[in-house]
Amino acid sequence: MGTAIRDDANKNGSFQSAVGGVSKGAFGSPRLAAISAVTNYKPSPPQMNFLEEPTSELFNCNVFSPSVMKKRLPKAVYKALMRTIESGEKLDDSVADMVASAMKDWAIEKGATHYAHVFYPLTGATAEKHDSFLSPDGEGGAIAEFSGSQLIQGEPDGSSFPTGGIRATFEARGYTIWDVTSPAYLLENANGTTLCIPTAFVSWTGEALDKKTPVLRSMQALNTQAQRILKLFGHTDGALVSSTAGPEQEYFLIDRNFYYARPDLLNAGRTLFGAKPPKGQEFDDHYFGAIPDRVLSFMLEVERELFKLGIPVKTRHNEVAPGQYEIAPMFEFANMATDHQQLIMTTLRKVAEKHGMVCLTHEKPFAGVNGSGKHVNWSMGSATHGNLLDPGDTPHENAQFLLFCAAVIRAVHKFQGVLRAVVASASNDHRLGANEAPPAIMSIFLGDQLTDVFEQIKSGGANSSIPKGTLTVGADVLPPLPKDAGDRNRTSPFAFTGNRFEFRAVGSNQSIAGPLVAMNTIVAESLDFCATRLEEATGGDASKLHGELQKLLTEIMNEHGSIVFNGDGYSQEWHDEAAKRGLLNLKTTVDALPALEGEEVKELFSKYSVLSERELESRLEIYLEQYVMTIGVEAKLTLELARTTIFPAAIRYQNELASTCSNLKILGYDFDTDTLDVMTSLVKSLQDSVGELESAIAEPASDDLMAEAKHCCEVVLPAMNKVRSYADALEGYVADDLWPLPTYQEMLFIK
Ligand code: ADP
Ligand code: MG
Repeated sequence: MGTAIRDDANKNGSFQSAVGGVSKGAFGSPRLAAISAVTNYKPSPPQMNFLEEPTSELFNCNVFSPSVMKKRLPKAVYKALMRTIESGEKLDDSVADMVASAMKDWAIEKGATHYAHVFYPLTGATAEKHDSFLSPDGEGGAIAEFSGSQLIQGEPDGSSFPTGGIRATFEARGYTIWDVTSPAYLLENANGTTLCIPTAFVSWTGEALDKKTPVLRSMQALNTQAQRILKLFGHTDGALVSSTAGPEQEYFLIDRNFYYARPDLLNAGRTLFGAKPPKGQEFDDHYFGAIPDRVLSFMLEVERELFKLGIPVKTRHNEVAPGQYEIAPMFEFANMATDHQQLIMTTLRKVAEKHGMVCLTHEKPFAGVNGSGKHVNWSMGSATHGNLLDPGDTPHENAQFLLFCAAVIRAVHKFQGVLRAVVASASNDHRLGANEAPPAIMSIFLGDQLTDVFEQIKSGGANSSIPKGTLTVGADVLPPLPKDAGDRNRTSPFAFTGNRFEFRAVGSNQSIAGPLVAMNTIVAESLDFCATRLEEATGGDASKLHGELQKLLTEIMNEHGSIVFNGDGYSQEWHDEAAKRGLLNLKTTVDALPALEGEEVKELFSKYSVLSERELESRLEIYLEQYVMTIGVEAKLTLELARTTIFPAAIRYQNELASTCSNLKILGYDFDTDTLDVMTSLVKSLQDSVGELESAIAEPASDDLMAEAKHCCEVVLPAMNKVRSYADALEGYVADDLWPLPTYQEMLFIK
């Protein structure tokens, strides 16, 4: 346990660690104290007995799951609830009361004392409002109470959550509303257990103040449009089409002693200083390498905790960078996947602490080292038709697949800007466009075989003048399509991977809600377009479908096929080629966010009732505000660290060199001042650059958020980078025992 290290260290009287910094005690610097503590780390005794309690038996044990509900609710109530969950029927108040009562009994039997409405404000974080089950009974005692209305609706003091102007203070009410489709669960803590109820967070006027509401709305929009397409193919059972998501979370682990010795990591989530380690990821020996013991022990506990919450995690391995790892659950319905993804991040952070480590979910904690993303695997499907992006085995299924696939291609091309905007943040800017993550240019990887199919469709397919072997939609000549495109192309931001698309530009620290809302909505729009066209063209005559479909696919590929690119997304050739094709290259958040202001985009979100114009505007405002705030904090930290930590270390060493020189001079020895010269010049440059950064942030704040954000991007960030460049150069000269901050080498390689 984390406290174990601290205790050990305290016992030795060597140093004392506290939140906010490791004091230096007997050591020369907090850095050396941290190294000593890390070296002396002793793992705490095992807390789990896997034989007594196999992890498989824990699955879902803390979830008020459909099977628990089935056992505990009267049959009619259970059925009514499932109708709400599965087809969105309105829930009756009396049903809610019964569900609340059963939920409370279940939770109290399992040790819960409180319940919390969990909601997802626009900061991307998770928020909770806790209440006790107990109410005074008027006779000096207390009784446990939890009514249907308490289950359904809560009123957190939402005034501290950003609303982007939606909620003026005079109407400062926000409500949390039970999301029936995401199950309640128990969160355990050493001092008690809380029943957590996933909720949507809306203003009293019904506007979405959160990330969940639009996800639910966008899933509905996608279902409506997908049903129209299915109907054209003769499928009229109406089984709900849901979008599915499987997010792969990357993260870093470092020892907590290093974390607390780095005010930049602590306050900004990333290092603002630090020279590249001599041994970097170029050795590539970390990827899929053996997992260190402490990390494995952490992973096992994370998995176990997530299993209890019904989160089906499955993979774990080292990632590209040293100290970097990945965890991915099995895919689920988009809404559940989003809630679960938030829980995964929370669990990673909590369990890391118990193992004396800190989990960094920032997109770029270490400059020059691979960053962290969150690949969001996305598809759509229904209980009766399975995965709609599965090519299937027969030409008929192929035709339907090709239509769904073409709809996605059209959507991504038409709304490139939206996809880029929903992954835009100050931290993800360090990844996108840098030479390791997908580039900021949106494109689709289809794999050779599928690209070939679409290329032929482009040139008309059925046209008889085309050489033999031409594919005709729905005809027998269409071969079985590849199920596994064998995709190992890691440079594409949007890749077809056999039976789903993988959106790779998403940042590791982001909620997946935004990207899912965008994908669901843009694809709904495309399906709407296709359905309308085919309905009109066939006039209900099914025999015309394949001919009309062929025409439509040809048109879509001719108009939108330029988004398909299978090559190396990092290369300069692609950047040139993409520019020629007219694809957007929105390099920074400041370039990307305005995409949300376009008329077509406003129309898109309001037409499908996903986000009203005001809701969309509020999001743009909040994201800009967050961008400005993030860079503001980083700039102040850069100044503070440069002045109070790096500059003092530098002049101490400079002084040491200077006195050596003057002593040697007095003694009449030959000496040269090369190192002193370099040091003196670097110290001077550091001071000057600190002055420049100071004036950059001293400029009066503008009323216009966009102007403010531009200033951060174009003036403040470069000024910060300049300070950093001199500080990092100094790291290569200053005596090791004087250097105050744990180095990249230390943080990334000491296990
Ligand atoms: P890789 O690292 O090769 O990209 P992983 O196995 O780590 O693959 O992750 C693949 C993710 O895609 C998993 O979360 C998996 O559940 C998810 N996935 C598979 N099928 C679908 C689907 N139909 N819809 C959404 N996600 C899916
Ligand atoms: Mg992946």
